[in-house]
This record gives sequence, structure tokens and C-alpha cells, in this order.
Amino acid sequence: MKRNERTGGKVYLVGAGPGDPELLTLKAVKVLARADVVMIDDLVDRRVLEHAPNARVVEVGKRGGCKSTPQEFIERLMVRLASRGKIVARVKGGDPFVFGRGGEEALALARAGVECEVIPGITAGIGVPAALGIPVTHRGLARGVTFVTGHTRDGSEPDWAALARTDTTLVIYMGMQRIAHITAALQAAGMVATLPAVAIQNGTMDNEQHAIATLGTLAVAAQKAKLRSPALIVIGEVVALAKVEADDRALKRTA
Ligand code: SAH
Repeated sequence: MKRNERTGGKVYLVGAGPGDPELLTLKAVKVLARADVVMIDDLVDRRVLEHAPNARVVEVGKRGGCKSTPQEFIERLMVRLASRGKIVARVKGGDPFVFGRGGEEALALARAGVECEVIPGITAGIGVPAALGIPVTHRGLARGVTFVTGHTRDGSEPDWAALARTDTTLVIYMGMQRIAHITAALQAAGMVATLPAVAIQNGTMDNEQHAIATLGTLAVAAQKAKLRSPALIVIGEVVALAKVEADDRALKRTA
């Protein structure tokens, strides 16, 4: 018998969407209302907790400049709580399975015999450009979209040359720290410098900021705009469809 069958405990891996708390799914809201414990990531807007009035809240992010909570600790805590019969909502930004370590957590729970259900969320790579009017797979402009991380634990690099050849919109998560390197590598791999590109910080939120430029000018434009993490880089013809303010349009013309 699975442990949770004895105890009734369960872990929900909940995607909170790209930022704006109104982009939670109905299913996420219902799970939060039932949760005994909410384990919430750094990136997630705290207004999400309004839906979990009865839950104990465990912060598992890097708030206050502390080191992030070790993954093993998070996994052990989830197992312990569910084994004691608790309903645990493990809330992550975007979608739990897109660069969110949700897969690792689901495997750890399965190994421990704990029931787990995934509540998908809108990933930043889709929701953030969409909120700016960028359709990442606009017909005639992009035959697809590629999600890639600019930052890996072991410091290894994506194959930029292969990515440059895909003829898809490139959406780069966690790329801000290396934006100059990434945009240079893509140009060296044959992508044209005039390709529209944007960096978007805090997408879908009130404090959203972005810099629209071209592949060749994006690194400088993002630096001038003082953009920082959490931000996405989107590169491709579709970026030209962004609904932007007059300032941005002027920038676009001069870029
Ligand atoms: N699971 C999340 C991604 C986690 S990785 C998802 O599906 O969206 C964290 C990275 O996501 C950030 O470094 C940034 O690149 C991106 N990101 C998340 N929220 C964002 C937002 N509101 N605006 C811009 N980028 C965001």
C-alpha cells in the first residue's frame, strides 16, 4: 500500500503562471483553498496566498539574499508532510515542469510512494511575450518556438549554432546575466543582427519593463534599461508584432 493511501496526504505541484496572480488556473485556486501547507517559491507573487487562508506557509526561495533552500530539504519536507496526511501545495512560478525542477520533485515523491498531482501553469515563455502582444508562433513568421535556458548548473552552453538554424522563435529563460555573450554567439552562428529581439523583466506584472531592439543591439538596450532577472529574451521576426508605446517605436526605428 502506498503511504498516502494510509494517510490521505498528497502533494500538488502547482504552476502559478508567469506573474500576474490573476493568471492562476481555477484548479490552482481550488487546490490552494484545500491546502494544509503551501510551499511557495521566490518568484511567485504573494497575493497568490490569498487563496490559501488556512494553510501554513513555508517559503522555499532565496528571499533576503539567503542561499536558496536546498532541493533535498524541499523534497524531504514534502514527503514528511504528505506522510502525515497533509495536503501540500508546492507552488512554483510559470509551469512546474518548465525549468522549474518540478520533474525532479515528482520523481522524488514517486520514489517515496507519495501521491502527487501536477497542476499546469502558463509558462513565462508563452505568457510574458503574449502580454506584450507577441504571438510566438505567428504564421508566416515563425514555424515554431524553442525554449532554452541561458544558464546551466554545470556551466555548459546550448548549441547556439544549432538553435540559430531552427528557424523558430527563440525564447531564452535565465539569460540576462549572459545576454551579451548569448546575442554575440547567435550572430556568430549566422543569425542576422537586424532580427527583432526583446528582453522583458517582470512580464505580466505592474512593474513590467522591457527593451525592444534587434539581436545586434539588445544587450546594450537591456543594460541601458537596467533590466535584470527575472527576465526573458525573445528573438525572432514575431517580436516586430509587439504592441508597444511610442517610446519603444522610436527605439525600434533607430535600433
Ligand atoms: N517554471 C517557470 C520558469 C522558472 S525559471 C516558468 O514556467 O515560467 C525562472 C526564469 O523564468 C527567470 O529567470 C526568467 O527567465 C523567467 N521568468 C519567470 N517569470 C518571469 C516574468 N514574469 N517575466 C520575465 N521572465 C520570467
